[in-house]
Amino acid sequence: MSVFNNTQITCPACGAAVTFELVHSVNAVRRPDLRAAILDRSFQRQPCPTCGTAFRVDPQFTYLDVARKQFFAVWPASNLVQWRDYETRSQASYDKAFGPGTDGAALAGDLLARCVFGWLGLNEKIIAAEHKIDDVELEMAKLATLRTLGDLKLGADREFRLVGATDDELSVGWLRTSTEEIDDEYSVPRQLLKDIHSEPEKWAALRADVSGGMFVDYRRLLFGKA
Ligand SMILES: [Zn+2]
Repeated sequence: MSVFNNTQITCPACGAAVTFELVHSVNAVRRPDLRAAILDRSFQRQPCPTCGTAFRVDPQFTYLDVARKQFFAVWPASNLVQWRDYETRSQASYDKAFGPGTDGAALAGDLLARCVFGWLGLNEKIIAAEHKIDDVELEMAKLATLRTLGDLKLGADREFRLVGATDDELSVGWLRTSTEEIDDEYSVPRQLLKDIHSEPEKWAALRADVSGGMFVDYRRLLFGKA
């Protein structure tokens, strides 16, 4: 079931109180329109009735798509620096729904369970799956690409994300977290994913850098080191 709650929030432009139908959970099988709205970036965006400025609320909800075998715990982008805490919370919420002895237990082995931060992080997981790209190998390819570019920038408002793919190439780029605008876009040969897949030992260290829990992302390495 997809769940929304009417919540009073403050317009970031004029400060007026706005009643917002805030999402709590998305069931993408029953509501494919919500998945489409996430992908076209219109989801949870609406104009303020007082000043007319359209704004988008930072995401905090669970996303379930049993047809595509996806469970995503989605958190505000600004929570990234505390990713260890939110990874633990994501795991707890996953276990509550799909752990041993729960109604969802039968599904658990099949689901890709991930913790993501911000709309861009969520979009990327959905786009990768759509193009049959393993998300761990994608993050490894991104990190390898950044090192090749010598462009490992740490900015809190910049994210290096997959934005599309063809049979031969991945389109990746630097996007701004705040505006979701793309600054620089690069094409990476899809062959890089095949190389990573076929030589696991050579890439083992990079795999450890981007994975290890539900937060599978190149930024594991860059933010909030223990
Ligand atoms: Zn306003």
